[in-house]
Amino acid sequence: MSTNITFHPGVFLERLLSRNKIPRFIGSVDTQERVGLLKQTGVTIWLTGLSASGKSTIACALEQHLLHLHKFTYRLDGDNVRLGLNKDLGFDEKSRVENIRRIGEVSKLFADSACIAITAFISPYKADRQVARELHEKGGLGFIEVFVDAPLSVVEQRDPKGLYKAARAGTIKDFTGISAPYEAPEKPDIHIRTDECDVTRAVEVIIEYLTEHNYIS
Ligand code: ADP
Repeated sequence: MSTNITFHPGVFLERLLSRNKIPRFIGSVDTQERVGLLKQTGVTIWLTGLSASGKSTIACALEQHLLHLHKFTYRLDGDNVRLGLNKDLGFDEKSRVENIRRIGEVSKLFADSACIAITAFISPYKADRQVARELHEKGGLGFIEVFVDAPLSVVEQRDPKGLYKAARAGTIKDFTGISAPYEAPEKPDIHIRTDECDVTRAVEVIIEYLTEHNYIS
């Protein structure tokens, strides 16, 4: 699609500058300056795993914990994305790919704003997760893939929304883990077995990683 729009973060500021309304030294804030001022580095924490593996539960607990540490964080999950930005998308393969692509783009914007973005989506395809990673890395932004892992037998037993039961009965088609593939990460940055550790420990592990890699202090 051709466009005449040129990306510029500070058009309004430029206008004021040209009218000599504000001092010349004020310009648009770049990522490094933002990081220095906010004392945290933007990053996306990308949770991937089967339905009911614990992504939302961990994402909520992590967000709460980071907020109590006074960190700027925001969680993207099914509710705020599927009901808004991506409400035009269905669940066929093309739509699933587009769903994850948009989430990758949005989380990148959050990370660029020095936010700790937390995404909690099944994101079953390696290639799609790789696209999201590359998008961040090209922009010099961190991307932490967290494999929220529990065996199918465990998630089927949890089945908090009855989705596995419906998928087994054939009421839901193309359900990840039952009638659609889940491509597990081979080398996730963090691997959490939720059948072996509780939510508190999962949050601790992620916080330790953020601290060790200087995203937070
Ligand atoms: P997802 O977002 O991956 O679909 P949810 O977080 O919505 O999964 O649901 C996971 C269910 O498993 C919740 O009912 C949660 O209480 C339960 N659960 C049991 N153990 C754990 C654990 N260690 N970590 C996360 N969730 C767990």
